[in-house]
Amino acid sequence: MKILDGKATSAALKADIRAEVEAIVAAGGRAPHLAAILVGDNGASVTYVNNKVKSCHEVGFKSSLIKFPESVTEEELLAKITELNADPTIDGFIVQLPLPRHINEQLITESIAPEKDVDGFHPVNMGALALGQGQLVPATPAGIIEMLERYDIPTEGRHAVVVGRSNIVGIPVSLLLSGKYKKGNCTVTICHSKTQNLPEITRQADILVAAIGVPHFITADMVKEGATVIDVGITRVADESKKCGFSIKGDVDYDAVAPKCEYITPVPGGVGPMTIAMLMKNTLTAMKIRQDKK
Ligand code: NDP
Repeated sequence: MKILDGKATSAALKADIRAEVEAIVAAGGRAPHLAAILVGDNGASVTYVNNKVKSCHEVGFKSSLIKFPESVTEEELLAKITELNADPTIDGFIVQLPLPRHINEQLITESIAPEKDVDGFHPVNMGALALGQGQLVPATPAGIIEMLERYDIPTEGRHAVVVGRSNIVGIPVSLLLSGKYKKGNCTVTICHSKTQNLPEITRQADILVAAIGVPHFITADMVKEGATVIDVGITRVADESKKCGFSIKGDVDYDAVAPKCEYITPVPGGVGPMTIAMLMKNTLTAMKIRQDKK
């Protein structure tokens, strides 16, 4: 059994990005600039956004953090997005989700210019992904593929089973694995809450991706001997032994499943760290795409 180490892999990826940025700047270009919009003070969102800003510094990007109170109106948010869309010094930006209930998330996502949509959630970018032309791909699925690539795990012709069909993880990762992409060309089965005989299907997986949000849902009897298991799940579970009062659990019962696997991602330290690194990679890609168009 080998561990897919997201911390080490994301550090290597960030070092590559930093080297590329330094080369661009040395050649007289400018560093990529990522902006993040944060609404309200939800603890998890604040942590995620702060980590994104920190990562920008690590890879040599410029970053801007734009904060709005929970009471911000949809119009105010849309006005800021219009401004960022038009600002030539901004290469990409994200609106940290979830947003307060009075704001239509779909409308916000669709108002971001596709070429600056470094989260890859805009229908234009999702459509391009489905057509085998994805460039700005959602960061978590892209991070999974990056790990498969860096560990040289074969995908072609293998059976990948994806449990979960969300727009941010399950659907895009199944498109990447099934498409004519590097580390694609799998035969993919997508499972969800209405799937019958789930263990029977997951046991067929050469590559099993769990993106469910239910701690330790995938048990040892659901996994084939020698499988590669990717655990996307991050659930905060109350834990009095921890200073912060909670611990993070994945969707896979790691201790029982790991001995059966050829490769497995731990939680924490697996897919999670890859996500922010891929956001950095998307921002660099967004800058290059816009420059190529000029
Ligand atoms: P969603 O809640 O949007 O989707 C969960 C999916 O799991 C749905 O498709 C749902 O099916 C399916 N599901 C739920 N229960 C079952 C069940 N009993 N059997 C089979 N399928 C089931 O979650 P996300 O995709 O946004 O996130 C999934 C997990 O990944 C969460 O823990 C989240 O925190 C984590 N995450 C981690 C990231 C990272 O950076 N590591 C990034 C993003 C997410 P249905 O569609 O039928 O409801």
